[in-house]
Amino acid sequence: MTGTGTVAPPGVADGPLPRVWADVVGQDAAVAQFRRAASPEGSLAQAWLITGPPGSGRSTAARAFAATLQCEQGTGCGECRACRTVLAGTHPDVTVVATDKLSIAKEEVRALVMTAQRAPATGRHRVLVIEDADRMSAGTFNVLLKSIEEPPPSTVWMLCAPSAEDLAATIRSRCRLVTLSVPDSAVVAELLERRDGVDPALALRAARAAQGHIGLALRYATQEGSLAAREEAARTLLALRGAGEAVLAAQGLVDRATAEAKEHADTVAAEERERFLRSAGIDDGKVPPALRSQVKQLEDDAKRRQTRLVRDVLDRYLLDVHSVLRDVLGRQLGAGGELVNIEVAPEIERVASRGDGRVTLTLLEAVQEARARIAGNVPPLLAIEALLARIAISLV
Ligand SMILES: [Zn+2]
Repeated sequence: MTGTGTVAPPGVADGPLPRVWADVVGQDAAVAQFRRAASPEGSLAQAWLITGPPGSGRSTAARAFAATLQCEQGTGCGECRACRTVLAGTHPDVTVVATDKLSIAKEEVRALVMTAQRAPATGRHRVLVIEDADRMSAGTFNVLLKSIEEPPPSTVWMLCAPSAEDLAATIRSRCRLVTLSVPDSAVVAELLERRDGVDPALALRAARAAQGHIGLALRYATQEGSLAAREEAARTLLALRGAGEAVLAAQGLVDRATAEAKEHADTVAAEERERFLRSAGIDDGKVPPALRSQVKQLEDDAKRRQTRLVRDVLDRYLLDVHSVLRDVLGRQLGAGGELVNIEVAPEIERVASRGDGRVTLTLLEAVQEARARIAGNVPPLLAIEALLARIAISLV
């Protein structure tokens, strides 16, 4: 069937990119897949699994897809009330669950499943987004399973996770999979410039340092001293001499990660506490006895969150270590191309010229091992000491 007017039928998947997708950068294939599914001629699966490395834009993509489904024009115009409220997080038929805790509580998912049963209030669909679907226990997956198996006709689930393997097989086999890739530095830099008004040179530096992690790139671009601290850590790594220095450097990394995580967790905790007290009608900051246990619960949550954050921050530092060693290896193998750590180029050249690519390769594996050990609950300081000691001995 062809349109008789001059305007293309709403929702066609080709044609210019609708506004809601503007911030989903470097993901052309995934965006095309979403737009096809949302178009009248597409088939809309009711459960989606959006995977991709941290910072690649999984939740941004989920929101843009939700806006496309609810859009009054059927396109994701970015201008109608539905599009604007979905992107702002206030659309009554789009529920987003995000967590920075270690796991999503079963009760939270149970409430979500109840919401999923309800018909949409104003939109065409009821959309439920779980941003960190990998942070669910087996029991919680089971709570979700029934609703994903047989959702009401207008309900659409969107689960986000680093990889499909992070979800129970019973869940992932019922989802349509969309895989995001690591966006390259140039498109991330362009996004920071356009969306956040970051100076072009700084945006490119921050994007390169963040290696495709959009949120991290923004932090590097806007948080005073963060790029300098990263550069300093790279310099220290490339100059390590012996086990003694390695132990000190490991302690330094763990201290820095703990401070960074604590600062973030404290800010979030204070905001939550204030919001809670305000919603209870208290504005002098004094907690009445009846509310103490709830405030205590908030504080306990904040502590748990901090534990996870320290590990996340350390993992990021280890990815930085990995990027420095990969730069070294690239030079040893005679690969051209731009360094990730261009600021310490002379040090990288020096270390590369002294060493052997095969050794560097084993060190890269050692970094991945250290990451896996920390994720598997080995005390971070131990894992990092062992790694840096090995690097110190091998790179001399
Ligand atoms: Zn719209």
